[in-house]
Amino acid sequence: MDTPKEQLNNSVRPPVVAIMGHVDHGKSTLLDYIRKTNIVESEKGGITQCISAYEVEVPDKEPKSRENRGILRSTQDDSANRRITFLDTPGHEAFSQMRERGAKVADIAILVVSAEDGVKPQTIEAWKTITECKVPCIVAINKIDKEGANIEKTKTELAENEIYLEGYGGNTPFTLISAKVGTGIDELLSLILILAEVEGFTANENENASGFIIEAHLDPKRGIEATLIIKNGTLKSGMLVAVEDSFCSTKIMENFLGKMVKSATFSSPISLVGFNQMPKIGGWFESFDNKQEMEKYMKEKQRENSDSSGSDLFPLENESAKTTIPIILKADVSGSLEAIEKEIKKIQSENAEFKILTKGVGPISETDIKGIKENVIVIGFNVKANKNATDLALNTGIEIHFFDIIYKMTEWLTEQMELRRPKIATIETTGKAKIIRPFIRTRDRQVIGGKVVEGSINLGSTVKIMRRDFEIGKGKIINLEKSKVKTNTVAEGEEFGMMIESKIEITAGDVLESFTTVHK
Ligand code: GDP
Repeated sequence: MDTPKEQLNNSVRPPVVAIMGHVDHGKSTLLDYIRKTNIVESEKGGITQCISAYEVEVPDKEPKSRENRGILRSTQDDSANRRITFLDTPGHEAFSQMRERGAKVADIAILVVSAEDGVKPQTIEAWKTITECKVPCIVAINKIDKEGANIEKTKTELAENEIYLEGYGGNTPFTLISAKVGTGIDELLSLILILAEVEGFTANENENASGFIIEAHLDPKRGIEATLIIKNGTLKSGMLVAVEDSFCSTKIMENFLGKMVKSATFSSPISLVGFNQMPKIGGWFESFDNKQEMEKYMKEKQRENSDSSGSDLFPLENESAKTTIPIILKADVSGSLEAIEKEIKKIQSENAEFKILTKGVGPISETDIKGIKENVIVIGFNVKANKNATDLALNTGIEIHFFDIIYKMTEWLTEQMELRRPKIATIETTGKAKIIRPFIRTRDRQVIGGKVVEGSINLGSTVKIMRRDFEIGKGKIINLEKSKVKTNTVAEGEEFGMMIESKIEITAGDVLESFTTVHK
């Protein structure tokens, strides 16, 4: 008898979890604690996690309820445990793109909020990403072991920022934890499993694997290596993986502990070695049984991309007129580079934009500095500069700027944009005068009498001649008199006589507007 199709499709997919929140609120500590206490004992021996995601196994408290509803386990799960995959993004997670990517790859987000510090800007930013991406979320109120912890205040602050917890006006589940001591972590893991259960993540083991690329780097010995999170299907040795225009075989396929594996299924983080070129981080991968299928897919993708990017060939006029401020960017890992690049793109002004000339992973070297102009901004993110590079920069008047927190860098770059962008000339009205009587007129000079109704009117200034609110021409004040006495300025409420140089015939009722050009 055939197995019903929906049953084939109906394996529980372990949740992929991203930890988010403000810097120093305990994300890394939480990831470390879970890793330390939940990675299967047999796997631990001597092997260290070498990619930025890991899997844990958590005792399954309710296997029966799922079986009763006809949901199958994946063959990779043993009967007593359930898997959870954690994304473990490197360094300070002040990277909005990483968070965005994390949220897209992730099925569940944990928003870590320190009970000591309460809600902070990145807490709100993370929450925004989570809700925009519609990812179910658990709030973990952390550091409850600390003397300064104030759980009630944290909950109030969360509510003030429209993060409504269960029992506090909303339905966002939460736990109280200490990532350092371990309090509440088991409850948090159970909550993740319950939420996954409620959300009903399923996938099909019988399909070819597809999913996301979460990191990629060039290993000097092994070549281009990337970490993949499988979201559906199974990846087996002998298959091929394609991500837009890069591809890789599954000959060297390793699990998150660096152990060679012959197959992997959904939610598992996998490392593949041997990509033909750097795959796009955050890119979607598909896998194929043979080269022909893969090539067909890649050709289709190429066609789609060239169709959708056609409009870029004709940039808008005002875009091309922008002044570019060049940047050379070095960072510790490719994930940071990508995140920084995205943040930099967001800093815009009407008439200037940043342009990244070169970017790369690793310290700032002499080659980065050689031959560049003084106006280039050199940025090192979480990296240092070699001595030769520092010396060369000093000698050539190039400044290198170092950052380790993304928002500090964007704040500084925003200031730089303001300082360096060309100033825009704007016209400000400084005075208005109503013409009461026109007197004699030659071809380009006219004597007129009027009254200043706003601001002041000055000798020598150029004025706009307005008729019923429309500018009909310009003129220059070449003589100005108040009560028949020559003057340099006439103030609001005062009457004047003036000689104006203009080709326009001014009549009673016209308004003269004096203005100055301000560069902002
Ligand atoms: P991240 O920037 O969010 O990854 O924060 P970290 O995990 O690096 O934590 C920042 C600091 O807070 C570190 O010194 C941790 O040891 C400390 N920390 C994190 N969680 C706890 C906790 O639950 N209790 C206490 N006492 N300290 C914590």
